[in-house]
Amino acid sequence: MRKKIVAGNWKMNLNFEEGQKLTSEIVNMLKDENVKDVTVVLNPPFVHLYSVNKLIGDTPNLFLGSQNCSDKASGAYTGETSAEMLASFGAKFVIIGHSERREYFAESNQLLTEKTKQALANGLTPIFCCGEPLEIREAGTHEDYVKDQLTESLFGFSAEEMSKIVLAYEPIWAIGTGKTASSDQAQEMHAALRSHIASKFGADIADNLSILYGGSAKPDNAKDLFSKPDVDGGLIGGASLKSRDFVEIVK
Ligand code: PGA
Repeated sequence: MRKKIVAGNWKMNLNFEEGQKLTSEIVNMLKDENVKDVTVVLNPPFVHLYSVNKLIGDTPNLFLGSQNCSDKASGAYTGETSAEMLASFGAKFVIIGHSERREYFAESNQLLTEKTKQALANGLTPIFCCGEPLEIREAGTHEDYVKDQLTESLFGFSAEEMSKIVLAYEPIWAIGTGKTASSDQAQEMHAALRSHIASKFGADIADNLSILYGGSAKPDNAKDLFSKPDVDGGLIGGASLKSRDFVEIVK
């Protein structure tokens, strides 16, 4: 049975007090809910990691993640944060290749391979993001476009390494726009990605791979999206900044 995962991506939001408040609320709400079969991840900005992790404490099924890591192990790379540091601060997950990083920070498929290697070498679960821009969707070449992202970044890994990776399909036109992919569009892409992974790594690895959907997921569409057989959870941006919305999505 593959894992169901809901990961909150705070992006560059929330100061110290706001981050503490949001985390405390989520920790308290999760205690009252029966959501034991869901892995919940909070991915705050780097500066929040230590204090968010303290609040997470030993809350069952709730884990710390980061939004990025360096492609380098250590050294003279001013402003960078290594996967090893993240692990030592308690992170268990790291988002890799979010479309905002690809677009605004020119992260290439090759660079993302290096980041994924760093994550795996330090015991972090990469949440590897992929997704097409609107013009590709409109041209009808979205499946090939997203499969190519996976091929170029991930197909050099072994099956054993691939078994430790989580995918997040995030159509760029749906991120922060209020325009969600329909559950059928999500299902169609997730199934295509799963069979693409199966073609390289085998059916076992593909069957056990969690594929999350991201892009304007909210309490009122989460149930429909997550009811699809190949949608194993969500990567949540805007709605992860409100404790009630985020916990509703987890439920
Ligand atoms: P959104 O962001 O939920 O605000 O659309 C999702 C993401 O970018 O991970």
